[in-house]
Formats: sequence, C-alpha cells, structure tokens
Amino acid sequence: MRLYNTRTHQVDDFKPLTGNEVRMYSCGPTVYNHAHIGNLSSYIYADILRRTLKSNGYQVKHIMNFTDVDDKTIRDSHQKYPNEDPMTALAKFTKHYEKVFLDEMVQVGNNIDDITFVKATDNIADIQKLVCELLNQGVAYVADDGVYFDISKYRQTRVYGQLSHIDFDATDHQRINNDEYDKEHAHDFAIWKQQKDGEPAWDFALPDGTKMPGRPGWHIECSVMSVKNLGQPFDIHTGGIDLIFPHHENEIAQSTAGNQPAEYANFFVHNEHLLVDGVKMSKSAHNFYTLPDLIGRGFDPLDFRMLVIQSHYRSATNFSWSGLEAAKNRRHRWCSIAELRHQVSDNPSDEQTDKVNEYIELATEAMSSDLDTPSALKYFDQAFDLIAPGQTDLTALDSLLSAVDQLLGLNLITSTPDISVDDYRLIDQRQIARQDKDWATSDELRDELRAKGIIIHDGTTPTWSRH
Ligand code: AMP
Ligand code: ZN
Repeated sequence: MRLYNTRTHQVDDFKPLTGNEVRMYSCGPTVYNHAHIGNLSSYIYADILRRTLKSNGYQVKHIMNFTDVDDKTIRDSHQKYPNEDPMTALAKFTKHYEKVFLDEMVQVGNNIDDITFVKATDNIADIQKLVCELLNQGVAYVADDGVYFDISKYRQTRVYGQLSHIDFDATDHQRINNDEYDKEHAHDFAIWKQQKDGEPAWDFALPDGTKMPGRPGWHIECSVMSVKNLGQPFDIHTGGIDLIFPHHENEIAQSTAGNQPAEYANFFVHNEHLLVDGVKMSKSAHNFYTLPDLIGRGFDPLDFRMLVIQSHYRSATNFSWSGLEAAKNRRHRWCSIAELRHQVSDNPSDEQTDKVNEYIELATEAMSSDLDTPSALKYFDQAFDLIAPGQTDLTALDSLLSAVDQLLGLNLITSTPDISVDDYRLIDQRQIARQDKDWATSDELRDELRAKGIIIHDGTTPTWSRH
C-alpha cells in the first residue's frame, strides 16, 4: 500500500511499524456546534483510509478525540447555560454536540464502531503530567497567564518545522495564548492556561508546588491522547492541511521534547480543503454549510459522501449544488442497480462474474495507491454497466455491492431494502390493468406507487426503483 506522507513530501510505501496492527490518530471536532461539511469531508477521508488499510489485511486501532474544552466551548456553553456553574454548563453543552457529531458521522457513512473516541476532559491528569515533565526538563516555562512551550529550548536538540518544512527564524519568537495563530511565525504556545474569571478549571499544582488552576491548551491534548492510546511512535496521524502548522508541528514538539522519543508519528496524512467559491469553507469565513442544510435541500448525506470521494483527498474540491446533484445521480444509478437483486431472476454468467471481480480488484488496487477514490469509482461504474435487468448474475451483483460498501462506505445494501408485499401487489394489479388496456387504473396505480417513492419501469417484466 502506498500513501502520501506530509513528513517526506512524497508517496511512500506504507507498512505498520510493528506487526499487523496500524495505530492511527485523527484530530477530532471541537464540539461547540454542528461540524460543517468541510470538517465532515476530512472524517470521510479518514474513514476511507481506515477501510483501505483493512482491505490490505491490516487491523486498525483508530483513535479520535473530542476537543471538549477550549475558548469556543467555554464561550458558547456559558451563553447556553448562563445560570449553571461553568463546569456543568461545559459538560452539558459539549455532550449534546458530541452526540450531534456522532449522528452526522453515521449519516455520512463513517463507521464509528471502528473508532475509539476520547475526550480532552477525561485526560486532564495525563495532560498535567506532560506539562510537568516539560517544565522539569526545561522545555516549558511558567508565565503570568499559564505554562508555555519554549521553542528556542526545543530547537537546541530538535528541528522545529520538521513537518511543515517552514524555515523559522530562530530569533522570531513571541508568546501566544490563542490555540490558532498565524502561519508565518513560530510562537511559544500555551500548554496550560490559567483560569480566568467565570471559566471552568481543574486543580493543578506546578512542580514547585504553586497552584495554577486552569485548563489545557489545544495542542497538548492530542499529544497526550494519541500517545496514551497508541504508544510512540504510532503509525498514522490524520487531519486537514490547515492542521499541519501550528497544531501538528506543536504536537510533534511536545511529544519529542526533552528525553522523549525522537519520532512522534510515522505518517502524517492530510486532506485538502473543501472550498466555496474557491475559498476554504470555514466557520470564521461564514461560508459554510452543515449536513442539515444539505438534507433541507432534499439531499441524502450519502450523496455528499459520493461528492467527497469523487475527488482525491489531496485535491481541493469546490462545493456546489450542481456538483452535489451530479454525485446524487451517480449514487442513484448504483442504488437502482442494487435494487435489482430483489426483483430479477438469476442469469448465471461466468463472464460477468469474472469481469465484475476484475473491476473490484482494480478498484481495490486504486484505493491502495494513495487512496485513489476517483479511479476506484470509475472501475465500479464499469462494473455496474455490466448489470441490467435481463442480464444479472446475482452472485456477481452481491460481490459488487459488498465491495463498494466495504471499501467506500456508501451503504448501498442497507439503502436499498426490498419493497413491501403490498407494493408488489400494486405492481401486479397495474400489470393486469395494462394487459386489459385499462389505462386509467394503470395510471392511478403508477401514481399511488410514485407517492410511496417507488418508480415503475415498464418492460416485458416491469422493474421498480426507489431512486
Ligand atoms: P476543526 O474542528 O476546525 O479542528 O476541524 C476538524 C477537521 O476538519 C480538521 O481535520 C480540519 O483540518 C478539517 N477541516 C477544517 N476545514 C476544512 C475544510 N474546509 N475542508 C476539509 N477539511 C477541513
Ligand atoms: Zn489534534
């Protein structure tokens, strides 16, 4: 299997560092609102990566975090629950959006049962332990509003900028309290933030015994939760390209400073952005859509999944409604063919089986070649082209549907259940009406079925589709 590694700037052969298990960490959402569909695209690609690793015979241990304490969750939880104490407000508020996120992950076809979710607020003691270690080793210092990572000390033994390949000016350091900051400068960043008025806080004693109640910085939570669950170094770290600097650069620094191992993660796999009118979709630019926006316009979340995987994860994709419509049409064609398994008789064909298996193999190879989803989709298109009402080898169709669902998570099988006995009765009645040339009854029955979302395709033996 081959994968692009941001660390090496090239597509490399991928193998787990030890044994057959791939240890993988994905930066998860900050749970203060609905994720926007750009965020969801990032998690769809991570899901596709995990599926591809599994199709290559690897076991995958996949960890994803919830950032459930930061400036935004604190601000909005207070707004939502002004009369609760800050800690209760934060817990209630973030719990709600964790659930919203998990629901949306499932709706877009991501298999959350294959992911272990961890939360910053469940890992405070371990975060504090790393803060103390960094202080003890002299790569962090105490300031009046928190504890900061000392980049110049780090640079005495390691390279800062090894992931982002930015050649920072060694003298150009300022201290910064924000988690997200400009991309041109190295800043000493907060690993522990002292409590401000009205903020939730955890007790914390610095190594010299001084009390500093507060909360973790953003970067340190990922360092701690990844290494705690996966060991160090682990195999793959994922996220969008906006996380390369400062977030992932800072994770590396925190986890490799002092006497810690020199390597943090072997592969960094970053997805390009979903754009709107050529600009990154983001909450701060107010140019974002959420999954409920798409559903409100009549789209299925899996139409969005199709749109995302039609692009390679390393190409920026411009989101448009017409693009989504095209993705929907492609998915509907596949679903209509999937529905044939309920209604046509088996037409065994070795040729069809062989060709379908060939296309499945080509699609699997494309996925293993740096997750080439656009090519995989084209091979699957060609396999679906082979299947039609009068010429359906049911075993070939079953293999095709299983392969598409396993590799791409499009849920073709569960999206296309059989229609009911009553619906079949209506189809038979309509067929009789047609034979009797009773066009009025035939039209009425067709409309009745259409009202139930079932479309009849006339032929010697009529077939139906729901999509
Ligand atoms: P955040 O909640 O902002 O940390 O983002 C969650 C994930 O979505 C991160 O991996 C980001 O890099 C990724 N992300 C943010 N915006 C976009 C976008 N417009 N397109 C694709 N991925 C994004
Ligand atoms: Zn992270």
